[in-house]
Amino acid sequence: MDDFAADPSHPRYQSLLLRHRLEEAEKKGMLAGSAMIAHGRGEAFDYLIGETTLPSAKAATVRALSALKSAQHPVLSLNGNVVALAGKEVLLLAEKLDCPVEINIFYRTPERMNALLHHLEAIKLAEHIDVEILGAEPNAKIPGLKGPRANCTKEGILDSDVIMVPLEDGDRCEALVNMGKTVIVIDLNPLSRSARMGTITIVDELTRVLANMIQWSGDDVELSQSEAYDNDAILAQALAHIAVKFSGQDN
Ligand code: ATP
Repeated sequence: MDDFAADPSHPRYQSLLLRHRLEEAEKKGMLAGSAMIAHGRGEAFDYLIGETTLPSAKAATVRALSALKSAQHPVLSLNGNVVALAGKEVLLLAEKLDCPVEINIFYRTPERMNALLHHLEAIKLAEHIDVEILGAEPNAKIPGLKGPRANCTKEGILDSDVIMVPLEDGDRCEALVNMGKTVIVIDLNPLSRSARMGTITIVDELTRVLANMIQWSGDDVELSQSEAYDNDAILAQALAHIAVKFSGQDN
């Protein structure tokens, strides 16, 4: 991939690879100025979690997959970091779920939208992935948000019943929840506003979540959505894991 030359046996190979993807995306104009800061905050929490999928994150992932599979109008919302870090994987998941993806970025400029669309279209072509990419021509607004970040498409985000918003900001997450949608958040920070606002929050690293979802998407995960699910308990378990780890009690 490009000029990435790190040795896969390097203990921080995965972290270096993700940083490299962001650097490349930055050169192509795909990212907002704050993209690296957001990634750094995620990396810090991943250290605390132990760079692994916790049992609570696995439970949330299965729940999220089940909600997506039983939805009438599921959609995967993508921002710049998601496209840069996992453009191929997110398209593969959308293909397996038979749902569209929608580019929905906080700092919207025509140049950034074009760069993101171009990147995803190139992956689609190279990998023969058949997925609808929405967002280029917004025709609706998310109620309760001001400015360009309210823009969305009616056939995608507006009419969706289940929406996955990896790495979303708290305000938009809250606005989507207020619309009555099932909102699936992926966020390594169990304390972020998005994590606390989401209907189902997966406290895990984006690329690990997508790999798990792709692997499990063929499994029989269609749980009854009325079955008890407690998102606050999932967040508390992630925090408890961090606390126990650093109190030395897990030795
Ligand atoms: P909020 O408004 O929800 O409190 P925030 O301002 O803390 O969010 P943002 O900068 O909007 O955060 O988004 C970055 C969030 O995404 C952080 O909480 C960070 O932990 C998380 N994050 C960054 N990279 C990843 C990743 N690769 N996988 C999962 N989560 C990530």
